[in-house]
Amino acid sequence: MLWPAFPSIPLAREQAEGLFLRLAGDRQVWSPQCGADGLWRLQMLDRPPLDAAAQLPFLPLKKLLLPAADPLWHHGSPGYAPPPPPPALLVTGVALCDLQALAYLDQTFADDPLYCARRARLLVIGAPCTPADDCACRADGLPPAGDLFWDGTRLWGLSPAGREIVAEAVPDGSPQTVALPVPSPAQPMSMVDAADFLASAGAPLWEAEAARCLACGACSAVCPTCACYEVLDEARLDGTVTRRRVWDNCFFTDHARVAGGFDFRPGRGARLRFRFEHKRLGFGPLRGLPACVGCGRCRRACPVDIDLEPIARRLCQEGA
Ligand code: SF4
Ligand code: SF4
Repeated sequence: MLWPAFPSIPLAREQAEGLFLRLAGDRQVWSPQCGADGLWRLQMLDRPPLDAAAQLPFLPLKKLLLPAADPLWHHGSPGYAPPPPPPALLVTGVALCDLQALAYLDQTFADDPLYCARRARLLVIGAPCTPADDCACRADGLPPAGDLFWDGTRLWGLSPAGREIVAEAVPDGSPQTVALPVPSPAQPMSMVDAADFLASAGAPLWEAEAARCLACGACSAVCPTCACYEVLDEARLDGTVTRRRVWDNCFFTDHARVAGGFDFRPGRGARLRFRFEHKRLGFGPLRGLPACVGCGRCRRACPVDIDLEPIARRLCQEGA
């Protein structure tokens, strides 16, 4: 399976430098940077780095589009105030799996005004990655979102805005349609049949796997497509109120608890199965579209090495 092709032009380093600086303009520039602790994080920089190699930051793009504690409105004097308009951002060095995750979030939050306002002010430049041993990205997943992709010698236009930038860069010619460079993940992602998954309800597999789960929520926090949230009001003694959307997590004890104290998923086995279903089989209106892009962040973040891929393989091989 090939990654999709997009309009593309040759673009050498010196030309890319000028183009990226022009695109940066008055935008905030963000890119993955390696800290002294060896961890890559998305960080704000003075200028776009000219590195044609993508890195997976510990927290993906959702940290900019869906911040962990996101003010929805504030009420005080003289009344309700919406959040300030989002800044224009340029993010560079984004890997293909994170571009696919962005496409997933774009669908999930298509009707969310705050997300859409931020998304409209975001320009994303992707780059080729070197897959880790536990990466499992899939070319037949969602087509990558983002605007441009630069591999050090060629520039691709992914979005209408990106294609316009590519076309402007070749006023005398026309871009060629070229496939994106293909990452070669060490392992393919196992695709689970919905019938096998449904038949696994109550199977000992889930409790056995979840027996060592600490319910810390790290796997969901780092996942580029996990976006569950809780809405909390902070009412202060001075009479002001701020409503915030804060990250929630399907491994937390009160995530599935409803009025009257009933909990749809009281045990960790049920919570692990719920997360597996969401990631590998899709969810709600996006049922059938796996939300997992194979980035491997969850298995790297999990302190007790819980990994969805061996579970998927087991369901594929043995059914329930
Ligand atoms: S489930 Fe794990 S591997 Fe899949 S997208 Fe989320 S963090 Fe990445
Ligand atoms: S990171 Fe591991 S231990 Fe923590 S909630 Fe996820 S599966 Fe459980």
